[in-house]
Amino acid sequence: MERKAIVVLSGGQDSTTCLFWAIERFGKENVAAVGFDYGQRHKTELECAQNICDEAGIEYEVIPTPIINQLSANSLTRDDIPVEEEKPEGAPPNTFVEGRNLLFLSYAAIYAKTHGATDLVTGVCETDFSGYPDCRDIFVKSLNVTLNLAMDYNFVIHTPLMWINKAQTWEMADKLGVLDLVYNKTLTCYNGVMGEGCGHCPACTLRRRGYEEFMEMKKCTK
Ligand code: ZN
Repeated sequence: MERKAIVVLSGGQDSTTCLFWAIERFGKENVAAVGFDYGQRHKTELECAQNICDEAGIEYEVIPTPIINQLSANSLTRDDIPVEEEKPEGAPPNTFVEGRNLLFLSYAAIYAKTHGATDLVTGVCETDFSGYPDCRDIFVKSLNVTLNLAMDYNFVIHTPLMWINKAQTWEMADKLGVLDLVYNKTLTCYNGVMGEGCGHCPACTLRRRGYEEFMEMKKCTK
């Protein structure tokens, strides 16, 4: 039996790259994606994800999770909390939503099981670790065991970006033949600007530096 995969897709660079990674690995007909509407300030994220899935011919379902907004206040969900230009030393940035990946992956697992899928794909990454404990490899492995026990099921959580940096993520998109799509049609910016973004928030800075590094790598290998 062919395995089916559910990709957690936010419409950003990382999860979009993971979507195409999953399509290559599992075959388009075996991949679907889910996103979460938790009251994020920028609904454009979900629109980006929907457009990307339409283009890829993949089913996309948005799961409403307003509880996350209700439980925590931060700059991804609240207009009155501005995005920090620099991340504070030794503390998670104020875009941090406590336990978000724990919840997202758990919801995705429930969705997967009810849709006959065993494999979950998420773009979490430990390399650019910015203080999100539930993006760490050890957490994902631990949750994988917990989900299997919770639902008596053999989930496999894939984290194709776990040990690579932003430049290598661009490289992966390039190898998958979706560099232009990821560059122009994803939304990573904390200020809600698609593609190249606002240019000055921490997400834009990380994305741009990675892209520049990737272009350097590409020049050297030509
Ligand atoms: Zn930005």
